[in-house]
Amino acid sequence: MKILVLNSGSSSLKYQLIDAETEEVVAKGLAECIGMTQRSGQIIQETKSTGKIAFEAEMDCHDEAMDRVFALLTDPEMGVVKQVGEIAAVGHRVVHGGEKFVQPTLITDDCLEELEKMSELAPLHNPPNIDGIRACLRLMPGVPQIAVFDTAFHATIPDYAYMYALPYDYYTEFGVRRYGFHGTSHQYVAGLALEMLAKQGIAPEASRIVTCHLGNGCSMAAIRGGRVIDTSMGLTPAEGLVMGTRSGDLDPAILVYLARRLDASVSDIDRIINKESGLLGLSGLSSDMRDIEEAAANGNARAELALEVFCYRIRKYVGAYAAAMGGLDAIVFTAGIGENSPVIRERVCRDLGFLGVQLDEAKNETERGRAVDLAKESSRVRVLLVPTNEERMIARETMRVIAAAEVPSPCAEVVKIEPASAAR
Ligand code: ADP
Repeated sequence: MKILVLNSGSSSLKYQLIDAETEEVVAKGLAECIGMTQRSGQIIQETKSTGKIAFEAEMDCHDEAMDRVFALLTDPEMGVVKQVGEIAAVGHRVVHGGEKFVQPTLITDDCLEELEKMSELAPLHNPPNIDGIRACLRLMPGVPQIAVFDTAFHATIPDYAYMYALPYDYYTEFGVRRYGFHGTSHQYVAGLALEMLAKQGIAPEASRIVTCHLGNGCSMAAIRGGRVIDTSMGLTPAEGLVMGTRSGDLDPAILVYLARRLDASVSDIDRIINKESGLLGLSGLSSDMRDIEEAAANGNARAELALEVFCYRIRKYVGAYAAAMGGLDAIVFTAGIGENSPVIRERVCRDLGFLGVQLDEAKNETERGRAVDLAKESSRVRVLLVPTNEERMIARETMRVIAAAEVPSPCAEVVKIEPASAAR
């Protein structure tokens, strides 16, 4: 039995076919440059028997891309699926679930309709996710399609942490509140971190951890007793930490000021804060942390500034979340930067001795690619490196839904979340 995990972005479609029992990745691939006129599309797929193969493929839309991917997966020579029945379910990453979808959800016609409406909250992200779902419904009729939401793990955040101090009607009418993202990643690494802490005598229900997902997009979550109580991203993934090209936290009036000074339109402002800011905007060099670190090491002052702004913001959030949770047992680092950059982990932990954080510098330099504790033995707070695996988490959540004896009709009852009691 296999689970197909799909992550469709605006011009790409990433997929993994995962063995439901062993969690082994049977095939993984990427269809990119979908619908682009200036660059030709290509599909790259990797399986044990074929190794990595890549070829050009014209793909006008996600529907066509999914046709190609499906043909490749079921190809008599190169494929890994002999018949559709081998695919027990498809798990789709869906970015925004709003307040309605707080659990992985079996897709029905009603759900699709609700998801379409949700696109208003995530106009860049949800439409391609929905395109991927529709393509799979067409290609694999009868195979359960499950939506796994980036926002769902954060559904336990209490109202005083998710409300913005704006006129209340904007919340009730337009859904303006903090939702948070990267939920499957925070959930996956938090699960492993709690297991690691339990071995050191810290019970999951008493644990207070901060998870730092530091990739191109960056976010943090405060997780007390296994439940998220706060997170740094907001209504959209633009809030919070400094990211590759996103600004993170800003004085909101800056946007008004810039709009006036630049005579900028709404889409100009959107572009500035999402595509031209962050590490790229600060350094003027690159959005890629490897480039920033290299330039800073070679004496580039703006790259050094970008590094420090990036780390300082994370440190501030660690302090804020320790206060919100009434203490701290572990800081968890994950994703491209969190897993691979000793420099960033060291800078974040450097001034946190007052909280009881003591990083073992030798371990920090040498450890890579596995879940490991990087703190000194004497450290009161553990510093955990935990590689994330969002696809595996989506496959697990998908299996959980199909394994449930009775799959509830997720949209039958649209319940308003009571964060304090939302089941997790
Ligand atoms: P995405 O959010 O696209 O999934 P990733 O989790 O792959 O991104 O993270 C990408 C980021 O990780 C980039 O900024 C990249 O520079 C950074 N990164 C990857 N390897 C290293 C490394 N060895 N040192 C520092 N940064 C790294």
